[in-house]
Amino acid sequence: RSVRLPNNAWPKSEGLNYKELQDILKETPKAEKAREWSKYYTSGPHLAGKNLSQALWTKDRWEEFGVKSSIVTYDIYVNYPINHRLALLEKEGSSKTKPESGADGESEADWKVKFEATLEEDVLEEDGTSGLEDRIPTFHGYSANGNVTAPYVFVNYGTYQDFEDLLAANISLAGKIALIKYSHIFRGLKVKRAQELGMIGAVIYSDPGDDGEIRKVNGYETYPDGPARNPSSVQRGSTQFLSIAPGDPTTPGYPSLPGAPRQPVDNAIPSIPSLPLSYAEAIPLLKALNGHGPNASSFNKYWHTGGLGHKGVHYNIGPSPDDLVLNLYNAQEYVITPMWNVIGVINGTIPDEAIVLGNHRDAWIAGGAGDPNSGSAALNEVIRSFGVALEAGWKPMRTIVFASWDGEEYGLLGSTEWVEEYIPWLTATNIAYLNVDIGAVGSYFKAAGAPLLNKALMEATQLVLSPNQTVENQTVYDTWDKHISTMGSGSDFTAFQDFAGIPCVDIGFNTGPDSPVYHYHSNYDSFDWMDKFGDPGFHYHEAISKVWALLAANLAETPVIQLNATDYATALKAYLLKLEDKAANSPIFSQESTLFTSIEKALDRLHNSSVTFDAHAADLLNEVRHADIPWWKWWKKVKLYYAVRQVNNAYKELERQFLYAPGLDSRPWFKHVVFAPGLWTGYAGATYPGLVEAIDDGDKGGAYRWAGIIAGLVNKAAGTLE
Ligand code: GLU
Ligand code: CA
Ligand code: ZN
Ligand code: ZN
Repeated sequence: RSVRLPNNAWPKSEGLNYKELQDILKETPKAEKAREWSKYYTSGPHLAGKNLSQALWTKDRWEEFGVKSSIVTYDIYVNYPINHRLALLEKEGSSKTKPESGADGESEADWKVKFEATLEEDVLEEDGTSGLEDRIPTFHGYSANGNVTAPYVFVNYGTYQDFEDLLAANISLAGKIALIKYSHIFRGLKVKRAQELGMIGAVIYSDPGDDGEIRKVNGYETYPDGPARNPSSVQRGSTQFLSIAPGDPTTPGYPSLPGAPRQPVDNAIPSIPSLPLSYAEAIPLLKALNGHGPNASSFNKYWHTGGLGHKGVHYNIGPSPDDLVLNLYNAQEYVITPMWNVIGVINGTIPDEAIVLGNHRDAWIAGGAGDPNSGSAALNEVIRSFGVALEAGWKPMRTIVFASWDGEEYGLLGSTEWVEEYIPWLTATNIAYLNVDIGAVGSYFKAAGAPLLNKALMEATQLVLSPNQTVENQTVYDTWDKHISTMGSGSDFTAFQDFAGIPCVDIGFNTGPDSPVYHYHSNYDSFDWMDKFGDPGFHYHEAISKVWALLAANLAETPVIQLNATDYATALKAYLLKLEDKAANSPIFSQESTLFTSIEKALDRLHNSSVTFDAHAADLLNEVRHADIPWWKWWKKVKLYYAVRQVNNAYKELERQFLYAPGLDSRPWFKHVVFAPGLWTGYAGATYPGLVEAIDDGDKGGAYRWAGIIAGLVNKAAGTLE
């Protein structure tokens, strides 16, 4: 097969040149089409493992677009909701002194129900899917079965530090139920810490102080009258222990294929029950704590009251007295059930270089217009556009793989199992993985990514006009703050980046300080919300399709792979500086002046090698593009070809050098020594996680051991380039 390039040194092609391909990718994605795909995906429930019709539909569309596709199935351990209850119970005043009957000295009749939560979101006339008969109940993925009744404690956001503060103040936690605000960290880690401290249940609610109320101050009405958080809105979501390992908790490190051995799940998912709650239904629980225990506003300087002060909530911490308790009942059915990834492939000319693009399809609710189906709609537009190019004669240089993942919401299931199965192929061929989860729910372009991809991302965003131009012809790049976060977790890039050592980006248009609130994991993340408030006109859907497609094209079609080693080396130094600061402020490590020496030396070497290597790569690309080599000097072409292959192999292998086979000490599934989700944040990334954790634990031996491991791998990476 021939490769179409604007040069003489490379085989000529009958197909499209790169510029022609780019034009197709810029012109083909259409807002109206994205709206049509969004309407389809959000028309009914499509929970993980219960969306086969959407998987088949997706495969059919991709094949219509001209991309060969198949369904790849895994058998995954997962829960579905059966029943639940949350009630505030108060012991009748008179009965407190009354002689009791019954085994434990009390009878049921002594307790009166002060508040019975509906655990339902309101059915809104204006919102087509909020009232579906088969709408999905409010529940947590991987939550434990249980029926517990106990006093409860308001634990703020339930961060590790929040719990430390409570322990320091001698607030009794063991045996109690935690009432927790959403936000700040991944919800499963809130439950994890509560469980470790002997708490017996968790209720996590969406406080409007963290989103809705702020928007209201900005003048927004609550949904459906305006975009602000509807008071009955509930954030479902997984409570698996994301920072320990994603994927099927019964098959860590290997694929959930039929007959696969299954491991016990004890350390991967909670053992205490939990439920999510709306702020409307949290109010009675919070108010009942008024007057009990310290107040959040004066507890310490990091704790604050939330957004429900005007509803009479004082934000006392509690615990509630023994005669004021919560009953939390959670009934989940656990099954091993098929989940379906759709995988589409455009075969390239080069056999061992591939780019993978992915988005998840499953949603917690019937809608999912933002999460994840704004990304799914965009992916269809990306594939349709590549299909148009194929139709016009384009012969791709590198292989492009498209994935519609199932089971992301429960714990990145479809993508993790796929990476675990195909890791030999991915290791040999995958240049980059490009993830879009929430593609468009606001006007702010947001990116997280491996530094190797910084340059390619900057270039792609410059090719697409911004839907919110304040100056004519502003591109997405121009309106973006250019911040690229480090890779944490919380979406399908995790196994690629942290298990397989593949550089990843995760991009999308999201909310900012002046955006309408986003009803994340709630019934109101619906088509109607999207059409009216999230992305009216679907222009951001169109824009993200273009950025995604053009980024893929850049990586797939440039003869010299467009990764940038210098950006990586620079970032690695910046991460180290932060860590050195941390150590300097630690009583145990402030005197350890040699702890970082070996890493510093290795990073200097890597930086030098990177600068030289990137310059060599740029020269080579120039040569490929401009060399005027007549066909009879074929040996010169062969020489150039091998030089390019050598550079491309080194780029491809660079990120892999940072994998450490035994993994991190406390979570061996995570193999990358530079990037991992923060142990107690989940979403937000930690850099040099092994070393950070050793420092946090005050473990000197561990810190020196990790410094040695990291320095060794940085030297290995430098060696790859040299
Ligand atoms: N993106 C989902 C969430 O944040 C899933 C994350 C996970 O469980 O790994 O809830
Ligand atoms: Ca697995
Ligand atoms: Zn998502
Ligand atoms: Zn989600």
